[in-house]
Amino acid sequence: MAAPNPNKVLDPAKPWETTRRGLLLLVSSPAGAGKTSLSRRLVADYSDMILSISATTRAPRPGEEEGREYFFKTREEFQAMVDAEDLLEWAEVNGNFYGTPKIPVMTAMEAGKDVLFDIDWQGARQVANKASADSVRVFVLPPSWSDLSRRLHARAQDSHDIINQRLALGQREIEHWNEYDYVIVNKDFDRAYADLIHIYRSERMKPGRNPWLPGFVRGLAEEN
Ligand code: 5GP
Repeated sequence: MAAPNPNKVLDPAKPWETTRRGLLLLVSSPAGAGKTSLSRRLVADYSDMILSISATTRAPRPGEEEGREYFFKTREEFQAMVDAEDLLEWAEVNGNFYGTPKIPVMTAMEAGKDVLFDIDWQGARQVANKASADSVRVFVLPPSWSDLSRRLHARAQDSHDIINQRLALGQREIEHWNEYDYVIVNKDFDRAYADLIHIYRSERMKPGRNPWLPGFVRGLAEEN
């Protein structure tokens, strides 16, 4: 992935606002573990982070809007995006295709913004392989299987059969927990959200993500 220009300091008095290297926060979990609520809250609270909106061939659920949850595509449209190499990654999940449009991610990275991805283990693995230095992988686990099942039923978004399919899929998703840099058990939303913020803030403080640091430290030495 193209690096932002580390010399692009627009306001020398505030280098931290203009020279940051964006990170890619990849969040996966079985459906119902709270990944979407945690992700959306983080994006709402941190203006330097944008949410990657995926393309999918699955039908919209009640309440979902084009361009907010997903870009809803036909199989032909999705295939055309794959053929044109418009997707950073894509995968088949439960008989539907899901993929990450490349351009918004590249644009965000060039502007030094962070990008949050709510994607499955296959997608997280592909992005991490393509951009390992920029990727941070977080897996969200439910506190128990019965809790997960209860949450999916409480949502009442899907039929009984679909819920059972999503639970089976979740079991396979969980098998990949160990490929992630961090694991959060979402027993209590506020606590899990605090954990996610800690991960994000710590990862942001890594020197490589702050290209203004060498100049800043040189300045400190000169001042001394
Ligand atoms: P749902 O249909 O419940 O919204 O999503 C099903 C699964 O697809 C979830 O695990 C979700 O994270 C994953 N997913 C959503 N968008 C993408 C994407 O762009 N790429 C990949 N690989 N998985 C995605």
